[in-house]
Amino acid sequence: MQVIDRIELYHVNAPLPAPFAPSWMPGLVRHTVSFYLVRFITDDGVEGWSAFTGAGRERAGLGDNLAGLFLGQDPEDIERLSERIHILAVGGNFNWWLEPAFWDIKGKNAGLPVYKLLGGTDDRLRLYASSGEIRDPGERREEAEKRLAEGFDTMKIRVHDWDEKVDIEHISDIATYMQGRMKISVDCNQAFRLTQLADAPKWSLERAKRFADAAADVELAWVEEPLFGEWHEEMAQLRDYSRVPIAGGELHVMGYRELARMVKMGCYDIYQPDAMWAGGIKQSLDVARVCHEAGVKFSPHTWSNGFGFIANAHVFAASGFAGEMVFEYPLNEPGWVPHGRDAIMMKPMMHDRGWFDMPQAPGLGFEIDHKALEKYGRCFFKASRRETHWMPQALADLL
Ligand SMILES: [Mg+2]
Repeated sequence: MQVIDRIELYHVNAPLPAPFAPSWMPGLVRHTVSFYLVRFITDDGVEGWSAFTGAGRERAGLGDNLAGLFLGQDPEDIERLSERIHILAVGGNFNWWLEPAFWDIKGKNAGLPVYKLLGGTDDRLRLYASSGEIRDPGERREEAEKRLAEGFDTMKIRVHDWDEKVDIEHISDIATYMQGRMKISVDCNQAFRLTQLADAPKWSLERAKRFADAAADVELAWVEEPLFGEWHEEMAQLRDYSRVPIAGGELHVMGYRELARMVKMGCYDIYQPDAMWAGGIKQSLDVARVCHEAGVKFSPHTWSNGFGFIANAHVFAASGFAGEMVFEYPLNEPGWVPHGRDAIMMKPMMHDRGWFDMPQAPGLGFEIDHKALEKYGRCFFKASRRETHWMPQALADLL
């Protein structure tokens, strides 16, 4: 039996071409893309990679747990490995992002891209352009024109104002301006609150209803996360009330079980679990299955880094929803662009006139640029079945 023989952990911090101020964390201006990167190597030399967003030292201590839980394990036994990721979670540390690395190995073993291994036949994904910053309506019009000219037929914008009239004016302006040329959707970023740097409005069910009315009046494609993520009952009420599709579900760290219950409760019209947060590739596909059964839609969230984008692309390409749904393509010029975000990949994940061609290489289908990894990454933990090394200086330098 093939086993996991070595594990390496890196922290990567690569410069973005321009500052980026994400709407979901008011007050933050990012100058780099930063993440934790894991490399599992089997005893016969097959490598599985994955990465998860990480600003500083929050996962610096992960190595000991990884060594104890994963060295010597069968990399193909996703169920057992997922149980071990759950053991980490019980200890307070959610790491579903590790699971796609095992699929990377499984796909390489089979000589197939992961989505094909999972039975997927959709080689091209229709994308929507997913913006990340709050902009004023004039800038938003320019941005939409640009995306339309590049081949996108759907764009998602962000609102996050204290004054609900400002939010409603914003969606009405852009939807009316692009009417008949481009579909517009909106992400309200209400499901989780990252208010450590600056406070943000917290919508009530009543405010969400008024917003959904305005969104329906200007025929938005969907309204995303208009309520706090654990308010499942209120979400179901909102969905019942709304004339516009309600979407959400990206960061439900309890994974399949919670999302399947939300489907039963009727929380959303479109489910968007992100494999990196919500149970890995396997559980995301289980969610897609119950979405089919319930007659609701599915299209994963992808906004984290290139590894998150591609892991979720494999889920979507295998989900059976690619023929009817668009898939999230994060793009927020000039700061958040593929060549900056994917600095340690040989080829950034580029779109082609609003479409994404699934990579055909076995596994998740990217190649690490080892020179770039050396430049922007620091290995801070290495373990094999024989020995374990912490790099104290690299750990100290993490920030
Ligand atoms: Mg979202």
